[in-house]
Amino acid sequence: MEIKQWYEGEKPWIIAGPCSAETEEQMMETVEGLVNQGITTIRAGIWKPRTRPNSFEGVGKKAFPWIKKAKEIFKVQFAIEVASAQHVEMALENDIDILWVGARTTVNPFNVQEIADALKNATDKTVFVKNPINPDLNLWIGALERFHQAGITKLGAIHRGFSTYQESIYRNIPLWQIPIDLKSRYPELLLICDPSHIAGKRDLLFEIAQKAMNLRYDGLIIESHRDPAAAWSDAAQQLTPANLRVLLDKLQIRDLTF
Ligand code: PEP
Ligand code: MN
Repeated sequence: MEIKQWYEGEKPWIIAGPCSAETEEQMMETVEGLVNQGITTIRAGIWKPRTRPNSFEGVGKKAFPWIKKAKEIFKVQFAIEVASAQHVEMALENDIDILWVGARTTVNPFNVQEIADALKNATDKTVFVKNPINPDLNLWIGALERFHQAGITKLGAIHRGFSTYQESIYRNIPLWQIPIDLKSRYPELLLICDPSHIAGKRDLLFEIAQKAMNLRYDGLIIESHRDPAAAWSDAAQQLTPANLRVLLDKLQIRDLTF
C-alpha cells in the first residue's frame, strides 16, 4: 500500500464534538461553542456501537437535518461513524464530509470490505480507520488497505487504545508502540489520537494528548459536549468546548514533521 500525504490544513488537526448526537439543541449549542473556540471539524456519533444492549444506541438518521443546519450556519465539516454499507449510503446522501470506522468494526474484514465497496463511487471522501479494539497491527493495516484498494486516498488512522481485562488507569490501554510501528511503515499516513476513548475520564486527557503531540501525531479527535455530565454516552470523558480550549492551549506542540 502506497500512502501519500494529502492533508493540507493546519496541524495539529483538531476534531471535536459530542460522543453522540442527542438533540438538535445539544448539537447546535455544542457546535456553536466549539466554533467559538476555533474548531471547525466536528465529530458526532449517530449510530452508536454499545458494548451492552438496552443503552442509548444513537438517534440515527434523525440527526442529518441537525447536521445540515449546523453546517449551514457554522460552516463546519462533519465526521460520523459508519458501520455498514447502508450507513455509508445515508452519509453520502447527506453530504457528510468525513466517515470513520469504529474500533469494533475494524476487527471484522467482511464489515470493513462492505463499507469500502460502498465508497467505490465516492473515492474523494475522507475516511478514518480507528484501531481495532484488540492490539493487532495487521488488522488495522488490513482495514486501511481495503479502503486504499477501493480507491480512497484521503485516509487517516485513529489511535483510540486497546481493550484489556487487566486493571488499568486507562479505559483502553494506549500501547503507543503499535501506532508508532504503523507510522514507521507508512510515514505519510495521517495519524490522529483519540485521547477520549483511551482515557475514559477527563483528568487523563491532557497527558495523553501531550504524549501524542510529543510523538508528532497529526491531530486529535476529542469528545466535547455542551454539558458533559448530562451526556447520553461517555459522560465521564467529555469536555465543555471552553475546557477543551484550556487543554489545547496548554499543549506544547513541537515540529510536526514526523
Ligand atoms: C466513539 O468515537 O464514540 C466510539 C464509539 O469510539 P470507538 O469506536 O473508538 O469505541
Ligand atoms: Mn464515545
